Amino acid sequence: MYDIIIIGAGPAGMTAALYAGRAGKKILVLEVQSYGGQIINAKMIENYPGIEKISGYDYATTLFKQITDLKVEIKYETVLKITTDKKVTTNKDTYQAKSIIIANGAQNRKLNIPKEKDFLGKGISYCATCDGSFYKGQEVAVLGGGNTALEDALYLTNIVNKVYVIHRRDTFRGEDKYLKELQAKDNVEFILNSTVIKIEGKDKLENIIIKDNNEEEKVLKVAGLFIAIGQVPNNEIFKNVVDIDEKGYIISLDNVHTKTKGIYVAGDTRVKELRQLTTAVSDGSTAAITAIKEMNQ
Ligand code: NAP
Repeated sequence: MYDIIIIGAGPAGMTAALYAGRAGKKILVLEVQSYGGQIINAKMIENYPGIEKISGYDYATTLFKQITDLKVEIKYETVLKITTDKKVTTNKDTYQAKSIIIANGAQNRKLNIPKEKDFLGKGISYCATCDGSFYKGQEVAVLGGGNTALEDALYLTNIVNKVYVIHRRDTFRGEDKYLKELQAKDNVEFILNSTVIKIEGKDKLENIIIKDNNEEEKVLKVAGLFIAIGQVPNNEIFKNVVDIDEKGYIISLDNVHTKTKGIYVAGDTRVKELRQLTTAVSDGSTAAITAIKEMNQ
C-alpha cells in the first residue's frame, strides 16, 4: 500500500513527490516515458523566480535527482484506470494507494492533416531541441505563435539555413522578448495570417502548402515542419473519478481537489488560467501537502 501514487513525472508530479518524500511518505510515481514533462525540451528557462537562467533539461534533471535522492519509487508504466477506492491499474500491474495525485500534463496538439502521422520523424516534429540537428543547413518551417513556436524558431536559426515562422494571426501570443530576438535574425521569414493545410512528399516531407486568410495558397519547399500549436490534455481514462471540461481539462474545486475524496490534480492537466512552470510546481506542492493532511481524515 502506497500513501500516494502520483501520475506523471513532469514538474507538477515531481514537486508533489519531493514534498511527500520529504514528509516521509511511501510514494510511487508512474510515468509513461521519461521524467521532465514538456519543460525538459525548453531551451532556456528565464522566468523562474530566483533562477536567472537554466536549461529545461538541467532543471528537470535536478528535480529528478532531488526525488531519486529521497528514494522515491518511479515506474515507467502507462496508467489505464483508476478507481474511487484508489486502485491504479497500469499496463503491467495494479497498485493500491491511500491517495492519488493526477499530474499527467498535456500532449502536443496535432494539426490533424493527412500524412502528419506518417511523416513523424521524416520531416514532421513537435520538438525543435530534440530534432533540430537533423535539419542542419536546410530550410524548415515552424507553425504557431506561442512561446514554444518562438523559442523553437530561435533555436533553429542557429542550426538551419532558413526558418519560416507561420502563424494564423498577425500578432503573437508568445513573449515580446522572443519575438524581438527572432525579428533581429537574418535567416527568418514570417508568414502571417496563414496556416499549413497540406504536406507533400514521397517518403519524407518535401513541401508544405500554406493558405492565407484570403484563401490564397502557396507551396513552400522545406525539409522540416515543427508544429508548435499548443497542448491538449489526455484525461478520458479519469472520467469515472473526475469532472472534465469541454476541452478535456480536469475541473478542480479549489486548485487541487477533484470531485473524488483522496484524488487530487496538479499542473497543466487541470482547468487553470496560467500554465507555467511556476504554477505547475505550486500545484504539485499544494496537492502533496493537502493529500498528506487529509490522508487519515
Ligand atoms: P500556446 O501558448 O497555447 O500557443 C499555441 C499557438 O498555436 C497559438 O499562437 C495559437 O494561435 C496557435 N494554434 C493553436 N491551434 C492551432 C491550429 N490548429 N493551427 C494553427 N495554429 C494554431 O502554446 P505554447 O506556445 O506551447 O505554450 C504553452 C504554455 O507554455 C504557455 O503558457 C507558454 O507561455 C508556456 N511556455 C513558456 C516558455 C518559456 O517561458 N520559456 C516556453 C514555452 C512555453 P492563436 O494565438 O491564434 O490562438
